Amino acid sequence: MENITVMVVEDEAVIGMDIRNTLQRLGYRVPPVISSGEKALEKTAEIQPNLILMDIILNRGQLDGIDTAKMIRDRFNLPVVFLTAHTDTHTLDRAKQTQPFGYIVKPFEERELQTTVEIALARYKAECEMQKALEKERELNELKTRFVSMVSHEFRTPLTTIMGSTELLQNYSHKWSDEKKNIHFNRISTSVQHMTQMLDDVLTLGKSESDCVRFQPKPLDIVSFCQALIEELQVNYDNKCTIDFRVKTNWKGEDFPILDDKLLRQILANLLSNAIKYSPEHCEIRFELEYRDRDLVFTIADNGIGIPESDRDRIFESFHRCQNVGTIQGTGLGLTIVKKSVDLHGGTLEFCSQEGEGTTFTITLPCS
Ligand code: ATP
Ligand code: MG
Repeated sequence: MENITVMVVEDEAVIGMDIRNTLQRLGYRVPPVISSGEKALEKTAEIQPNLILMDIILNRGQLDGIDTAKMIRDRFNLPVVFLTAHTDTHTLDRAKQTQPFGYIVKPFEERELQTTVEIALARYKAECEMQKALEKERELNELKTRFVSMVSHEFRTPLTTIMGSTELLQNYSHKWSDEKKNIHFNRISTSVQHMTQMLDDVLTLGKSESDCVRFQPKPLDIVSFCQALIEELQVNYDNKCTIDFRVKTNWKGEDFPILDDKLLRQILANLLSNAIKYSPEHCEIRFELEYRDRDLVFTIADNGIGIPESDRDRIFESFHRCQNVGTIQGTGLGLTIVKKSVDLHGGTLEFCSQEGEGTTFTITLPCS
C-alpha cells in the first residue's frame, strides 16, 4: 500500500485531518488535505493520485465536489469516492451521474473506509484492464477492415488480368502465334506472382506479430548481397530507374559483418522497391552503405512523389497508403515489415521526405 496515493478533498479541516490520519495509519500515502475543487484539479494534475476521496459539498471556491469529480473523470480518468453527510436526493442523483467508484457516509469507521478504498481501487484496475482489452479488440477490427479492403482492391486487378488472358487464350489460341500466346501466359504468371507476393507479405507480418520470426545473425558478404538484390529488383522493375550503389566504407575487419540476411532482405528490398515504385521513370535512386563505429548505415534516397506531411505518422501502420499514391499499386505492408525487421535487428530507422521532391530512408544496424 506504500505506493498508493489517496488524495483527500474536504473543506472541514478537522474531518479532513482525521481521514488523512486514518488513511496513513492504514498504510496509504496521503498528501496534505485539499479544501477546494480548483486546488483539487491542480493537485491531481501534479501528483496523479491513485484515488481521490471527495467531499460532495465543498463551500470554498466555485466548484462543488460533484463538478470537480466530473472534471477529474473527464480530464484524468481517475477514480473518485464521494464523502457524504446527510445528502438530499437531488444531490445524490447528480453525484451518481459522475459514475463514482463509491460513497462513504460520514461519520464512518476505519474498516469501512479501508473496504471502500480497496474496492474502488480494485474496480478501477479491472476497468482499466477491460479498457485495454477493448482497445486491442478495436485495433484488431480496424486491421481486419483494412485487410479486407486491401484484398478486395488489390486482388481485383490481377484476377481481372488472369480472367481476361485465360478467356482470350481459350477462344483464340488456335489462331495465335506462340509469341502472342506467350504474352498472355506471362501476364497470367506475373499476376499470380503479384498475388503470391501480397499473401507472403501478410504471412510475414502475421509471423512477426506472433513472434515466430527470430533474429539469426551470421557473417554476411554485405556488398555482394546488396549487388545481387539490386540486380534482382532491376529485373523485376524492368530497369525503370538506375540504382547508384556506393559503398562509402572499407570493411576493415577480417570477417564479414554479422547480420541476419533474411531480415536485411526484407528491409532493403522493401525500401528499394518503394524508391523505384514511387519515382518517375528513368530516375536515379541513391543507395549508400557506410560503416560507422560498429554499425552499418544504409541510406536509400529517391526523387519521387514524397510522403505528404499528414501521412507521416501512419506510414508504418499495416495497410496504410498515402493519399498521393494515385494508381501506383501496393498493399501498404512493406514499411510495417521493414519496421518490424529493423526492431528485431536492434537497429534504428529514420526518414525525411518532401512531397513532390523525394524521400530518404536511413537504417542503422549494429553488426558486430
Ligand atoms: P507494399 O506492401 O506492396 O510495399 P506499399 O508500397 O503501398 O505496398 P509500404 O511500403 O508499407 O506500402 O509504404 C506505405 C506507404 O508509404 C506507401 O503506400 C506510400 O504511400 C508511402 N511511401 C513509402 N515509401 C515511399 C517513397 N519512397 N516515396 C513516396 N512514398 C512512399
Ligand atoms: Mg512498399
